[in-house]
Amino acid sequence: MYLATFLHDGRLKYGFKAKGDSIVDVVEAERVIYSQSTLPATLLEVIESQTAMDRFREINEKETEWDDRYVIPLKEVILQAPIPTPKRDIICLGLNYREHALEYTTAMEEANDLPKYPIVFTKATTTVIGTEQKIYSHPHVTSKLDYEAELAIVIGKEGTNIKEEEAYDYIFGYTIINDVSARDLQKQHSQWFLGKSLDTFAPMGPFLVTEDEIDRPVKLDIQCRVNGEVRQSSNTELLIFDIPTIIKTLSAGITLKPGDIIATGTPKGVGLGFEPPKFLKEGDTVEVEIEKLGVLRNIVS
Ligand code: MG
Repeated sequence: MYLATFLHDGRLKYGFKAKGDSIVDVVEAERVIYSQSTLPATLLEVIESQTAMDRFREINEKETEWDDRYVIPLKEVILQAPIPTPKRDIICLGLNYREHALEYTTAMEEANDLPKYPIVFTKATTTVIGTEQKIYSHPHVTSKLDYEAELAIVIGKEGTNIKEEEAYDYIFGYTIINDVSARDLQKQHSQWFLGKSLDTFAPMGPFLVTEDEIDRPVKLDIQCRVNGEVRQSSNTELLIFDIPTIIKTLSAGITLKPGDIIATGTPKGVGLGFEPPKFLKEGDTVEVEIEKLGVLRNIVS
């Protein structure tokens, strides 16, 4: 299922994508079909609940009975990030594609060694915006604004010391994140948190795609375009540390919780890697596309 959080009639709702470019408001569907209101208020709480998704599936199976009280044309909603307010910081992998590790370390004048262990940092929860929302360029603090196309995992089940062979069982689904970065702050402050955590620096969406929709292991084409020009083009099978390794490493001492978001790293072709660099500027359109997950599109303001 393709899940979304959206604004409709001035209210924040959630649901799943249906045929004919429409979206089902599941809370309203439940009220109409079952005369019940058991579903929680947000998609994050749906993920945390171990039973709410059963209701989604039941409603999905009743497609022939659906009516337009809760089936809304997509063009009438404003999509938000699927999890607009995560509970914990977004966990991110750094330098997790070979060619990007080389371009980054070269541009930053650092040693070109590939990471022996996953590089992990976080982005503040307050960075999250949805598709079509504006990335603020923060010109008072950065002149090196950059994009990073990334596959993001959303955890669906609590776990500690998760084994590689069981890692996929802990995944609720996948979405797209643009790990927007201020390269000058990243360099100046040594730790990456500040350069990665300015407001609007985590465009996310457009959908949260449930794990069962995507074949294991995850091999998806990933691309980033700026004003239509292809800057990044790769496949998630080229991750240095793959998804099971990431989940095993993180959960060895940190309990992962439903709703945790893990951005898996970006391939070659960030603005910093070009000679001269191609940093983002006001008015640029950035599109991140991942096969089967959709297109995340934002304009820099
Ligand atoms: Mg990144």
